[in-house]
Amino acid sequence: MKTLFKTVLLFLLVLTISGFSQVKKGVIDEKTIKEVINILLSQYGDTQKFRIQKGVNQVAEFWQESDGNVEEFKKFCIENFAGDENKQKYLFDKFEYYNEILNGYLNEMMIELRLPIDLDWGKTEPIDLIMGSYNPFAHLYDDLFANKYIFLVLLNFPKYSLQERETLGADWNRLQWAYARLAGNYTARIPADVNQKVSDILTDADQYISEYNIYMGNLLDDKMQKLFPDDMKLVSHWGLRDEIKARYTNPQDLDKQKMIYKVMERIILQEIPADIVNSPQYKWNPYTNETYKDDKKVELQRENDMRYQKFLNAFNAMRMYDEYYPDYKTHILRSFEGGREISLKKVEEMYEELMSSEQVKQVANIIKKRLNRDLLPFDIWYTGFRKKSTIDEAELDKITKAKYPTPEAFEADLYNILLKLDFSEESAKYIADKIQVDPSRGPGHATGSLIKKFKARLRTRVGKDGMNYKGYNIAMHEFGHCVEQTLTLYKMDYYTLIGVPNISFTEAFAFVFQSRDLEVLGIKDTDPDKKYYDILDNFWKTYEIMGVSLVDIKVWKWLYEHPDATPAELKQAVISIAKEVWNKYFADAFGLRDQIILAIYSHMIDNPLYLPNYAIGHIIEFQIENYLEGKKLGAEMERMCAAGNIIPQEWMKNAVGSDISVKPMLDAVNIALQKIK
Ligand SMILES: [Zn+2]
Repeated sequence: MKTLFKTVLLFLLVLTISGFSQVKKGVIDEKTIKEVINILLSQYGDTQKFRIQKGVNQVAEFWQESDGNVEEFKKFCIENFAGDENKQKYLFDKFEYYNEILNGYLNEMMIELRLPIDLDWGKTEPIDLIMGSYNPFAHLYDDLFANKYIFLVLLNFPKYSLQERETLGADWNRLQWAYARLAGNYTARIPADVNQKVSDILTDADQYISEYNIYMGNLLDDKMQKLFPDDMKLVSHWGLRDEIKARYTNPQDLDKQKMIYKVMERIILQEIPADIVNSPQYKWNPYTNETYKDDKKVELQRENDMRYQKFLNAFNAMRMYDEYYPDYKTHILRSFEGGREISLKKVEEMYEELMSSEQVKQVANIIKKRLNRDLLPFDIWYTGFRKKSTIDEAELDKITKAKYPTPEAFEADLYNILLKLDFSEESAKYIADKIQVDPSRGPGHATGSLIKKFKARLRTRVGKDGMNYKGYNIAMHEFGHCVEQTLTLYKMDYYTLIGVPNISFTEAFAFVFQSRDLEVLGIKDTDPDKKYYDILDNFWKTYEIMGVSLVDIKVWKWLYEHPDATPAELKQAVISIAKEVWNKYFADAFGLRDQIILAIYSHMIDNPLYLPNYAIGHIIEFQIENYLEGKKLGAEMERMCAAGNIIPQEWMKNAVGSDISVKPMLDAVNIALQKIK
C-alpha cells in the first residue's frame, strides 16, 4: 500500500527539507552581497527591493568556491535577476517545464527499473535487486547546483518560513503559492559525504531493529511451560504487539498477552539477555529472567543498553545536519516545521486535547466492561471494537472472482466504479483513461506519474482463479491513491503544486475508496452499529499512538538538552519520560501508574521522529473521511485535490472548512458513545 510516488516526493523532501539558509557561511562576504543588492536596486528600483534582497542572500548562502569567485558571483546575480513581474513569470514557466521533465522522466525510469521486482514476473535475480534500488534522483541536486539551475531559482523566488506561509499564505493566489513552493524546494546543500554517513548510521539502526526477533517457542512460564508454538518468531515490537492484538478474540489467551508484555518490559529496561535476541539457543523465563540450555540453568549477559546506543547513534546522525539549517537548528524543528509543515506547538495542543478528553475515560470504561476485567497496560492495543462484516467472505470471493478474473478486467471496470462513486461521466472517463492496472508481486500498491505523459499504475494481485475479496478490497484502496495521483497531476494549474501536502492526505482518499468497496459491488452491510465501532476503534488507536509519539518528542527534546548523554543515561530518561506521559494521560483511565509500555516502539530507534506521522495521519484522515460522509465523493474529491501541495492547514481549510483539528473525532466519539455502551 506504499506508494512509490510518495517515496519519490519524500526523497526530494529529505534532500530539500526546508532549511531556508545555510549556517556554514558561504564564500561570499557581506560587503559583496550589499554591493550586488545596490547595483540591482539601481537597475530595477524599490518595487523589486524585497525580491532583490532575498534573492541575492539566498544565492550567497549556498555559493561555494567551486561555483566561482566573487566576480563570478556578482556577474551571475546581475545577469540573471528577472527584474520585473513579466520576466519572473517567464522564468517560472521555464522551471515548470524543466522540472516536469526532470522529475517525470527520472521517476518513470525508477518505476520501470523496478518492474521486475514490483510485478509478478517470476523469480528475481541479484541484478534485479541492484537495479531496483538504484536511484536516478541521487545526484540530481548536486548536478543542478553545479550547473546553477538551482541558483537561478534562489535568485528569483523568495523563500518563506512556515510562520510566513501560515500568515501570508491565506491571502496568496495560486501563482503566489507556486512561486513560494518553487524556491521552497531548494533550501539545503548538504555535502554528499554527510548524507552518506547519515544513511549508513540509519541503515545500521534499521538492521538492528529488523533482526530483533524473539523465538516465542523458547519462552517459559513459572511452571516451565511453553505458551507459544516452536516455529513462532516475532520481531520487536510490531510482531509482539500484533500477537497481543490477535489474542483478544479468546479470553483464555490473557496469559500469553501478559507474557509478551513482560518481554517488552525487559527490552525497554534492557534486562533481556543478549543471547535471547534473534537466537534460538536458549530458553527464557521473562518473569524471573532466568535462562536455560538443555533444561539446565545458565547465566547470560544482559543486552547492555545496545537499544539506547543505537538511538544515540541516530540522534548524532541527525545532528550532523544541524549546521546546514540556521533557522531550524534541530531535527525536531526540521521534522515538524520543515517536513510536515505543522508546528510542534500545534501538534502538542492537539495531543493534549485528545489525550486529556473525557472521552478517553468513557471509552476505557467500555473496554473494561467488554473485557470483563480491569485494564492492563497492553490494552492500549485493544482490538475488540473491530467488527467483522456481516457478509460471508466466501460469498464475496465468489462475486469478485467472477467479476475480475484478470487485472485487465479490473482495469476495464475502473470507469464504472468511478460512476458508482459519483464521479461525472466526463471525469470518470478522463481519470480511468490515465490509470493502468498491473499484476503485482506483493499485495498491491499505487505509483503515480510525475509527468503528464504516463499513467498512474495500480498494482493488484489476482490469483489464477480471479481476484478474491481481500485482493479487491486492497485494489480499491490503491485505486483511491491512483485517482488522487491523477487528479493532482493532470488537473493541477501549476506543476510546482502537484500532489498533496503529505502522505496522510493521499491515504485518506485511499481509505475512503476502500471503505466503499461493498457499496461499489452493490452489497449492503446490514450491521447498523459498525460505523460506531469503527469510530471507537479509530479513537483508541489515535490515543495510543499519540502517547507513544509524545514520548518520542519529549525524548528528542531531552537529547538536545543532553547531547553528551551515555546510553545508560538515555535509557533512564526514556523510562522516566514514558512514565511521566503514562501518569499524565493514561494512569487514570487504566487505574495503573508508572507504566513504561509507551517506550517500546521500534521506530523510536531506527526512524528519528517518525511516530508523529501516524498520529497526525489519523487526525487528518478522520477529518477528511468524516467530511465526505454522505456527500458526492466525485465532485468533492476533485475540488479538494485541486488545491495541490500547499501547506496542510490551508489545504484542510479549503477541503473541509476548518483547520486540522481533533474536534471532529471527539464529536464523533460522543455520538458513538450514545449507541455503544
Ligand atoms: Zn495506502
